[in-house]
Amino acid sequence: MGLLSARLLAQAGEEVLLLERQGSGRESSWAGGGIVSPLYPWRYSPAVTALAHWSQDFYPDLGRQLLDETGCDPEVHVTGLYWLDLDDECQALTWAEREGRLLRRVDIAEVRRQVPVLGDGFARAIHMPDVANVRNPRLVKALKAALTVMPGVELREHCALTGFVNRGGRICGVQTADGDLLAERVVLATGAWSGELLQQLGLMLPVEPVKGQMILYRCAESFLPSMVLAGGRYAIPRRDGHVLVGSTLEYAGFDKTPTEEALASLKASAETLLPALATAEVVGHWAGLRPGSPEGIPFVGELASHPGLWLNCGHFRNGLVLAPASCRLLADLMLGREPVVDPSPYVPSRRLAVG
Ligand SMILES: Cc1cc2nc3c(=O)[nH]c(=O)nc-3n(C[C@H](O)[C@H](O)[C@H](O)COP(=O)(O)OP(=O)(O)OC[C@H]3O[C@@H](n4cnc5c(N)ncnc54)[C@H](O)[C@@H]3O)c2cc1C
Repeated sequence: MGLLSARLLAQAGEEVLLLERQGSGRESSWAGGGIVSPLYPWRYSPAVTALAHWSQDFYPDLGRQLLDETGCDPEVHVTGLYWLDLDDECQALTWAEREGRLLRRVDIAEVRRQVPVLGDGFARAIHMPDVANVRNPRLVKALKAALTVMPGVELREHCALTGFVNRGGRICGVQTADGDLLAERVVLATGAWSGELLQQLGLMLPVEPVKGQMILYRCAESFLPSMVLAGGRYAIPRRDGHVLVGSTLEYAGFDKTPTEEALASLKASAETLLPALATAEVVGHWAGLRPGSPEGIPFVGELASHPGLWLNCGHFRNGLVLAPASCRLLADLMLGREPVVDPSPYVPSRRLAVG
């Protein structure tokens, strides 16, 4: 959120100083799977759907722009997605018809023709052919590369925000170990750490870390032609054949240690989905901290109680798909432009408690 918000604000001619407490793009935005869709889009509120749809339409352009500007390809890879043996298939189909999205029921024999490596245990499927995934570690790398050559942006890494400069309720900057930094406006885009940081202002923002573990297999390039999802677990093919399998959902505070239990559980899910993975090499296993929020609805906008302080956080399981629209909405609001989506569901003050 920080990298993309900075890019949009600088593109509009604003001067931006982006602070990052470590190297940029190493947390959730690096760790995620990169499906450019909520996992079960029909189960979300219209607030999430509005951001997701705007972003999905924009992702191919974003990928091309970043490749042209930096030579680093975020690999927006349209593979489609099969959901297998869903309990709420009818709701999914009704939602898709209402929203005008391409989603249809498919015979399991057809799925097997398209995805010959699929496991035997599945009976039903629905398919969305236009869902993409983005290679998110490359996305953050490309965004960082784009920012470093943009006029008006300074990216200052290894500089943590430790507090806010509060003058009579107005936020005019941030405190860091290197001293105070003043700014006309401050944007908090600190993912899972946002709730903790806002406590310093006596505000209870319901954003908490939700750990997610993933594993990565090395496979032949043509191994998996589509994303597949069953029982909350999914497999995502990258263009070079790597297959990601995720993910766990754990409330374990800020601990990011990958565990043996999760490895075994993810491998079991992987082998149910795609039995041939039993003999494939697991080349990665990691955890990230999602910025969990009620219903996964992000907080985007200025805090009425603390003018000068803006939020763009709390995207929970969908921050990669929601990012383009969420950051565009933030920039529109900050710059007084017509917002791309109705901003009211994301207004922070409505969903904040004072501690
Ligand atoms: C396993 C897993 C799978 C996922 N899969 C998907 C998916 O398929 N599709 C999807 O759309 N989303 C997915 N997500 C969710 C998505 O990754 C997140 O919603 C999104 O990355 C959040 O972005 P963010 O910028 O808010 O947070 P982050 O990427 O975590 O960035 C926050 C940044 O703030 C910095 N920071 C924190 N505190 C400070 C401080 N005090 N000072 C300075 N800097 C600070 C951090 O170092 C970090 O760089 C997944 C997440 C996980 C963990």
